[in-house]
Amino acid sequence: LASGASRASATPMMEQYIEIKANNPDSLLFYRMGDFYELFFQDAVDASRALGITLTKRGQHMGQEIPMCGVPIHAADDYLQKLIALGFRVAVCEQVEDPAEAKKRGSKSVVRRDVVRLVTPGTLTEEKLLSPSDANYLMTLSRIRGGGEPSMALAWIDISTGVFRLAETTQQRLLADILRIEPRELIVPDTLFHDPEFRPVIDVLGRVVVPQPAVLFDSATAEGRIARYFDVGTLDGFGTFSRAELSAASAAVAYVEKTQLAERPPPERESAASTLFIDPATRANLELVRTLSGEKSGTLLKAIDRTVTSGGARLLAERLMSPLTDPEPINERLDSIAALTDRPSFASDLRDALKLLPDMPRALSRLALGRGGPRDLGALLQGLRAAAAVARMMAQEELDGELAAALADIAALPTELAQRLEAMLADELPLLKRDGGFIREGADAELDEMRSLRDQSRRVIAGLQLQYAEETGVKSLKIKHNNVLGYFIEVSAGNAAALTDGDEAKARFIHRQTMAGAMRFTTTVLSELETKIANAADRALAIELAAFDALTEAVVAEADAIKAAARALSVIDVSQGLAVLAEEQAYCRPVVDRSKMFSIVGGRHPVVEQALRRQAGNPFVANSCDLSPTGGKGARGDGAIWLLTGPNMGGKSTFLRQNALIAILAQMGCYVPAESAHIGIVDRLFSRVGASDDLARGRSTFMVEMVETAAILNQATEHSLVILDEIGRGTATFDGLSIAWAAVEHLHEVNRCRGLFATHFHELTVLSEKLGRLSNATMRVKEWDGEVIFLHEVGPGAADRSYGIQVARLAGLPPSVVARAKDVLAKLEDADRKNPASQLIDDLPLFQVAVRREEAKSAGVSKVEEMLKGLSPDDLSPREALEVLYALKREA
Ligand code: ADP
Repeated sequence: LASGASRASATPMMEQYIEIKANNPDSLLFYRMGDFYELFFQDAVDASRALGITLTKRGQHMGQEIPMCGVPIHAADDYLQKLIALGFRVAVCEQVEDPAEAKKRGSKSVVRRDVVRLVTPGTLTEEKLLSPSDANYLMTLSRIRGGGEPSMALAWIDISTGVFRLAETTQQRLLADILRIEPRELIVPDTLFHDPEFRPVIDVLGRVVVPQPAVLFDSATAEGRIARYFDVGTLDGFGTFSRAELSAASAAVAYVEKTQLAERPPPERESAASTLFIDPATRANLELVRTLSGEKSGTLLKAIDRTVTSGGARLLAERLMSPLTDPEPINERLDSIAALTDRPSFASDLRDALKLLPDMPRALSRLALGRGGPRDLGALLQGLRAAAAVARMMAQEELDGELAAALADIAALPTELAQRLEAMLADELPLLKRDGGFIREGADAELDEMRSLRDQSRRVIAGLQLQYAEETGVKSLKIKHNNVLGYFIEVSAGNAAALTDGDEAKARFIHRQTMAGAMRFTTTVLSELETKIANAADRALAIELAAFDALTEAVVAEADAIKAAARALSVIDVSQGLAVLAEEQAYCRPVVDRSKMFSIVGGRHPVVEQALRRQAGNPFVANSCDLSPTGGKGARGDGAIWLLTGPNMGGKSTFLRQNALIAILAQMGCYVPAESAHIGIVDRLFSRVGASDDLARGRSTFMVEMVETAAILNQATEHSLVILDEIGRGTATFDGLSIAWAAVEHLHEVNRCRGLFATHFHELTVLSEKLGRLSNATMRVKEWDGEVIFLHEVGPGAADRSYGIQVARLAGLPPSVVARAKDVLAKLEDADRKNPASQLIDDLPLFQVAVRREEAKSAGVSKVEEMLKGLSPDDLSPREALEVLYALKREA
């Protein structure tokens, strides 16, 4: 359109359309015409295809027919929802003046129209367009280049609930940070958007990433813009922010301003170090809030969610996405759960009270944005009542910590507001305020008067119908109402004569309309009554609308208190939900501290366990896992690594994942599926599990595996937990084995982290002889009555290698083949003992020594030089000094 359609020769309306469209090139333009939003040109083609609605034509433009489609106003929300879900953005263009005004300017002039709102995925507030249990974040990313490393920051706003947060990030953790928040829309400066370094983010997030002009991010003017937006002189009151943070925040503010008039949640800063770092691959593979195929069922979130409010559901998801790394707040959360499991009847009453709680933050947000309706006020009233009930209940108990703080926030709600809403709002509320009828009878004297006037007149009209029917002798005479004619008398064509014949009748019944088969009339009495009704109704509506505005204002004035209380109620809901879960699923309270312990007794996989129970088959087999420092063996008290072997389908992946999930649950402040658990804070969680198929992005599975493994080996610290499943599987045996071998050594010697390493390379099990903190474990299997039984039990030691041949035999492979396979295996094993791996363990120097030599070689230093560098003579005893001298001599 932009290039093809010029304004020359266009009708005035098309001219206006083209101008508005040119200003909104990246959005579908919903152009208001009467009771429809119309779309034209390519927009019409795209929208009709996306929505499955008819594509028609309207007039011509430059000799070409103009494609058009339209959606009715009353159904617009549904269509918007579909389009947004498909990744479109929509500019809603309304008439912004009374058509009468336009007529005054001349018969040809068009009603002025303008875009009143951009509907984008990140700036929704409509109930219908939002999922109750998900936050709806708009995120901005800024990058400030100075000398050295560029600094980066993220800002994210949920305008539907009023959350506004900021945090710094780095190139390295960028994707992880973004995925943790899961924004619906990520706004980045166009310069960054086109930077190849940024490409991977776009690859992962796709259409969520939206470029905007870099000026939106200008950090020099950021502070001023934010201050103006919040109507404050300086930002000092909000805390101190870096330049990158200010730039991101200011872009967020500018974008919100651009898309709508927004309410103004002040920014809060999130401290970067306080959350458990979970890299993107791990987050996806562990299926925390979404399965790899994009579904919500089968996720950890679904398995642990027993909340009863939408705010609670959103907070639970937020906590699951950002587990903590500070034992103190974690234990405070665990205390809240304990407080509730200790008081079962209180907890269950509390749960019932919370069930009555509507989505207050979203209703509040719509009211603040001027998009609210009577039901939003109703939701707040109901919310305030439910909150009061919760507060009364909680005040009876002696609570402390998080729950006591939550009670304080709820108790701080103004009581007058609820009273006022209660006094004013009717019991049944219409969706739209323009429908009226939402102010209670008795709340406003004038309104009552207008209503009774209106109702009286309606009764008079009903009487009139009877009277006219009698007088004319037409029994079927009806008085009806429509929006065009107002009130009118209707008789069938056959009966019309009774109203048209004779002077008296003619003087009385004024003809209005002839329909097929019917005629319509009015009378002076009827039109007078009609005017009376209309005036009374108009006045009544005006009174109601004024009352609506006043109530809205009163509600918005208390926005901070309401938001704080809503947040507090969400905290309570999350705690009660987790308490219910703990009871129902027999979870235990984990011990969480700053040690390097990782001791899980009788652990289970939270998702698989529940799935098995639903299928009512074999119960889940609990397994312990102990990666705690093995007293004395690890010189620095570092945690251990388990090397897990076992047959396919033995339960290796399940075991690996369950331990990662238990760590996440513990650190989000949740009880865990185990008999007991002691977890020293994990700072970063890494996993390489399952073959996440990345072929769509043009990378081979092996390449993906190596990229992920590289990230782990480069980043894991001695406080991290690393879960590796079948490293090196994607390539030929020898290089796969070599890579797996080197990776285990690196984890043990360099990362010194706690870890679980599942592998089918038996050769690796010999490593446990050399690596002090490495132990072998295996999934136990039993052969019974000619069948192989997977016990799903983890025990010490390495798997039996001939297992595959046994399975083959059971599967019915001819005995001769089985016998031959056994021979081959025996030969291989024999060769093996003499050959590669078993000897490697004796021949190869340990990882660090080997690496240092490599580094030395590449730096061009000799062994002697390197040894000298490592010496500190002051620390040597005379005897040690002599030994060093001999050693140097040997090397020289
Ligand atoms: P592997 O990774 O060794 O091939 P999986 O972890 O995929 O094995 O498990 C194979 C199957 O065994 C899964 O379908 C799972 O339902 C079941 N399973 C795994 N662990 C257990 C367990 N501890 N108790 C009961 N069933 C289990």
